[in-house]
Amino acid sequence: MRTTSTPTHCPYCALQCGMALSPLPTGGVEVVERADFPVNRGALCGKGRTAPAVLSSRVRLTSPLVRSGGALVPSGWDEALDLIAGRLAGIRDVHGPDALGVFGGGGLTNEKAYALGKFARVVLGTSQIDYNGRFCMSSAAAGGIKAFGLDRGLPFPLEDIPRTGCVILVGSNLAETMPPSLRFFSELRENGGTLIVVDPRRTKTAEQADLHLAPRPGTDLALALGLLHLVVAEGRVDEEFVRERTTGWEEARAAAMAHWPEQVERITGVSVPQLRQAVRMFCEPEAAMVLTARGPEQQSKGTDTVGAWIDLCLATGRAGRPLSGYGCLTGQGNGQGGREHGQKADQLPGYRKLDDPAARRHVAEVWGVDPDSLPGPGRSAYELLDALGGDVRSLLLMGSNPVVSAPRAAHVEERLRSLDFLAVCDVVLSETAALADVVLPVTQWAEESGTTTSLEGRVLLRRQALTPPDGIRSDLEVLHELAARLGVEKGFPTDPEEVFEELRRASAGGIADYSGITYARLAAENGVFWPCPAPGGGEAGVEDAWDDPARDTDPAPLDGGDGPAQGTGPVPSHPGTPRLFLDRFATPDGRARFAAVTHRPAAEEPDADYPVLLTTGRVVAQYQSGAQTRRVDELNAAAPGPFVELHPRLAARLGAAEGDPLAVVSRRGRAVAPARITTGIRPDTVFMPFHWPGEGRANTLTNPALDPTSRMPEFKVCAVRVERVERV
Ligand code: SF4
Repeated sequence: MRTTSTPTHCPYCALQCGMALSPLPTGGVEVVERADFPVNRGALCGKGRTAPAVLSSRVRLTSPLVRSGGALVPSGWDEALDLIAGRLAGIRDVHGPDALGVFGGGGLTNEKAYALGKFARVVLGTSQIDYNGRFCMSSAAAGGIKAFGLDRGLPFPLEDIPRTGCVILVGSNLAETMPPSLRFFSELRENGGTLIVVDPRRTKTAEQADLHLAPRPGTDLALALGLLHLVVAEGRVDEEFVRERTTGWEEARAAAMAHWPEQVERITGVSVPQLRQAVRMFCEPEAAMVLTARGPEQQSKGTDTVGAWIDLCLATGRAGRPLSGYGCLTGQGNGQGGREHGQKADQLPGYRKLDDPAARRHVAEVWGVDPDSLPGPGRSAYELLDALGGDVRSLLLMGSNPVVSAPRAAHVEERLRSLDFLAVCDVVLSETAALADVVLPVTQWAEESGTTTSLEGRVLLRRQALTPPDGIRSDLEVLHELAARLGVEKGFPTDPEEVFEELRRASAGGIADYSGITYARLAAENGVFWPCPAPGGGEAGVEDAWDDPARDTDPAPLDGGDGPAQGTGPVPSHPGTPRLFLDRFATPDGRARFAAVTHRPAAEEPDADYPVLLTTGRVVAQYQSGAQTRRVDELNAAAPGPFVELHPRLAARLGAAEGDPLAVVSRRGRAVAPARITTGIRPDTVFMPFHWPGEGRANTLTNPALDPTSRMPEFKVCAVRVERVERV
């Protein structure tokens, strides 16, 4: 137990706010301000401030649980681990390795995500691994890779935002999801810049905008094309940039010109004068940005929608230049790192492709295995969950709660129940853990060290501040023990730093190159932006950070991670890469690629039976499936349950008053929650937050229609009907 406070980072969202944990005389820790981290400068939202409450929660699991006679009963660790290893081996013997599913999470540290991917491929030999980040940012990742050859949420630090001229924030409610980040946008406006928010709801974020565009859910793609049409029509294309740094403009131009502003107005509900105003605000300053989040991304055309917004940036020369660019605001705590190190169905560490022979050889050498022994790509997250009980007979799950967070959740719950064997690692008995055959209680953020990578691509060190309670083990220990029981004695260390050292080697030369990053550097420098190759290592097709022009002209350098590090040896270490693409994009020819996409409707449009659109999202006091935050009294008091947000006109049609229970019914099921009536939502749309299980579970309703490229489900739009529920 430490006696001084420990600098670390919040366990929740991808902002990864800096905080310090100070020991309490009664045991445990409290959060104290840590102003040296430049992203939040000490500010925290309620979730971060109350995070220690989960460490000492009375409902925390303190011993393994094993199902016996239909109930989960406490057991010893050896008994539980033996049971898991025995059942997995037995299923593999009968049905083959691909009968073993593995499901990870975007909250797992880089070390855990890396070890879980390696465990699936080396120990189990299965291709059937994916993770809940597929539900979070996969469309932005796919769009970024197509356009730029590389996916890093933000290609620039958040600190660039106040110094640009205009930001279009598409489908992001930062005031609820990442409140400390709002200061960047306030500073932008104080500096004379403007903020445009695109959201079907007048959210707390939209209330701060200079211009709020409220498109019909599922039409963000058409909106972006309408703006691009006007950019062309008004002669605002940056011809030199397009000529010198891009390919595919003629096709993109033709696609945009086929979407007339009046037609876009009919599709989106955003008026032509508003479209013209947005184009003016975006194009007149020297620099501008587009930032997307789940709104445009969680659609069955999410990749194309991201592509359309990127096309707008490329046509106007607002990419690959200082203080300009396209970025994705990744959501989960390690949403960025979690997608880089091998827990994705198609991926190896370093953001390498699993079907790339050179990538397989490199990683197999680090792992000490035959490249031909590595399985190929598996199913995406929803497809994997949908296959449970079919050819996938068991699931090992870490860091996720799909009973609440997956689309078509009642069906997913039924699939989980149909498994031959389900093992879950968690800190509390989540709704998914409650279905398991074995539940293993694992350490939390403050009880272990590990790295995460924030939405900026900044690799950070979370430091251990507490000794774990008796009876708890880390996820890394679980993988070590299971590997040994399944015949792999080496290669699964329990020390996070040792895992990170291997991850560095595995990532070397890949897109997400961490080889020049060490725990010592992270502790000394307050984080390092990837790519950061080791001295002498190759770069991943990005401009040389040493020649970053923004570095020399930056009037507000970051406190750490934005300047050359002081190397400890004769060769200076690479400084990391805060800003990408300034000289070239990460494509083979260095040019960005236009997407050239066209609008298409959502997979499910309203009809006579389901005449209203449903969109889902978040509230400030809860996080994701709520498995942790619903266990914190203060957060529960602030956000005790779900609700149905609807416009007064729709409420009047239903004869519903504020607080009346409403049933929202889709083709997949029914959810009931009280009415919250506001003029801040379109009359054709209702909104539900998705943090809760049970009767008010929003994801009972959502549509698992998948984007053909990213395999992202369409969480953000489906057709429903809304009914009053008579009080009894
Ligand atoms: Fe934690 Fe995100 Fe809140 Fe910051 S904004 S305190 S990282 S939940």
